[in-house]
Amino acid sequence: MKLKINALLSALCLCTFLSCKAQEVPQIDWDELQKTKPWTASEQWTPVPPKVTPGFFTSPPSDATILFDGTDLSNWHRPKYDYGVNMETVVAIIKAKTANPSHTPAEWDVKGGAMIVKPGGGAIETKQAFGDVQLHIEWVAPVDVGKKDQGYSNSGVFFMGLYEVQILNSYENETYANGQAGALYKQHPPLVNATRPPGEWQAYDIIFSAPKFKGNGDLEKPGYVTVLHNGVLIQNHVELKGPCIYIGEPSYTPHPAKMPLLLQDHSDKVRYRNIWIREL
Ligand code: MG
Repeated sequence: MKLKINALLSALCLCTFLSCKAQEVPQIDWDELQKTKPWTASEQWTPVPPKVTPGFFTSPPSDATILFDGTDLSNWHRPKYDYGVNMETVVAIIKAKTANPSHTPAEWDVKGGAMIVKPGGGAIETKQAFGDVQLHIEWVAPVDVGKKDQGYSNSGVFFMGLYEVQILNSYENETYANGQAGALYKQHPPLVNATRPPGEWQAYDIIFSAPKFKGNGDLEKPGYVTVLHNGVLIQNHVELKGPCIYIGEPSYTPHPAKMPLLLQDHSDKVRYRNIWIREL
């Protein structure tokens, strides 16, 4: 009985600690940061991945969990906390999400068999949490000739809400190599550029191995990612250095073994369809 009471008290203390921390996600002072632009330190511009012309893709296998079949957003919602831009905010958001996993309905539009990023509508994430997975996802970078660099059809597939495979128009659109389509954002440029022109459907097939942590929070095994872009291998079991962040050096911070898959709202109307996943 005493053991049970102690365990209950520990759990209560942990909950209190986490809920106190839940509101402490630091605010980023973007005006101040514009003076030094610290995000440029982690941009890798060369070498530029060579271009490859891709083939075509496939329908879901029988054992896949369908996350989007073209009809509705019933498997998705909008999380209260989305993703961090540096390690400080990543750590705070993991704590905030753990303490308060609240959410509201996903606001993205569904039209013509696709779901479309609603600029300002926020990131959406799966209602189900995942660890090691195989994911298939199709997407279109909308044509917008006035846009360029990271501002041209930016979105992203965030495994566990932390590890981003970049979505971007990278067809004749110069940007830093470790931020182009198929990059593990600011960690690994793609091996080649298999991007189709904006306005055309393209696909990612991704094998994600989640990082594992010991009971004390130390890293036991890093995360690994393999990506095929339109059927072309562009990431070959690359090792993640930690969460994919905009500013600073990534490092591992412990988190639950399973967390939702998140799609980024970066203010561009990127379209998605035929999203399915297999737990590994
Ligand atoms: Mg992105």
